[in-house]
Amino acid sequence: MKAAMLYGVKDLRVEEIEVPKIAHGEVLVKVKAATTCGTDLKILQRGYVEKVIKLPTVFGHEWAGEVVEVGEGLEWPKKGMRVRAGNSAPCLRCYMCQKGKYNLCENMIWLWGAYAEYIKVPARMVAVNMQEIPQHVSYEEAAITEPLACVLHGVEEAGVGLGDSIAIIGAGPIGLLHLLTVKKMGAEKVIMIDLVEERLHFAEKLGADETVNAGKENPLDVIRRLTSGRGADIVIEAIGLPKTWEQALTLVRKGGTVLEFGGCPPGTEIKLSTEQLHYGETTVMGTFHTTPLHFRKAINLIASKTINVKPLITAKMSLDNIKEAFEMLSTSKTQIKIAIQP
Ligand SMILES: [Zn+2]
Ligand SMILES: [Zn+2]
Repeated sequence: MKAAMLYGVKDLRVEEIEVPKIAHGEVLVKVKAATTCGTDLKILQRGYVEKVIKLPTVFGHEWAGEVVEVGEGLEWPKKGMRVRAGNSAPCLRCYMCQKGKYNLCENMIWLWGAYAEYIKVPARMVAVNMQEIPQHVSYEEAAITEPLACVLHGVEEAGVGLGDSIAIIGAGPIGLLHLLTVKKMGAEKVIMIDLVEERLHFAEKLGADETVNAGKENPLDVIRRLTSGRGADIVIEAIGLPKTWEQALTLVRKGGTVLEFGGCPPGTEIKLSTEQLHYGETTVMGTFHTTPLHFRKAINLIASKTINVKPLITAKMSLDNIKEAFEMLSTSKTQIKIAIQP
């Protein structure tokens, strides 16, 4: 089968490899669509965390497809079923799992291999993180379950509520998914901040109440003007740079919450003002990944069209052109997510 193998930084090759063989409890799926993700782009451009990815590997983690082979011992799923699964499966037995922090599982298994004709789903993942896709949901939309699940987990942890004013730094795929989600959760005002005018226009189309081009205006001035001088109730950083993590801290009101969502390069640090934490009672939190519960919620919200992820898919390309797809993503101002079709 054809697969896009990641060998290292900036080293992605489309190669012919063996179709995976499945064992007891495993499932083989024909990938129908795999979506590009900011994390993939980061891994490709600046490296990876060994904990979650071992090289070389078939690349990609957001996908959906059709079951072509079902391992022994399984009553579900059935051959021909439309499914999505992964990219993680917690063990349900370790200390963190039993504390309900499934996203921090000490024995997490991660599944890579979306950019290929076939993908093998491990037994544990079949059991805890695979769902059937309703007929009216396209494979591309179903592939976006993974990033949406991460966003749902983050906004729940941050306690987004009815009537909140929310500033989101970054109008890329993750920032836009936050926008769509917090609007549905009853945010009163969502202010999107980015440097790229085209992305801000796109955010407006998706429902942003206000946009700030940080290259032209000072976000702090604008946020203060829009929130009677107080700052936003909740600020979400959706880029993953220490500079914008620090910027997020300046935009929040007293007693507000900063959700540092974007993962920064390893080894980086930020400055925190003790006065802000003490006198300002700022809550600063990070969230990592997501849980099987949120994967289920995400596919349900996509299926019910409560969260319409379709507009985020701005192009479709074949697996042969995957390198071009990532080049387009890093240079284009209008591409959000590209659906790769093996
Ligand atoms: Zn992703
Ligand atoms: Zn665990």
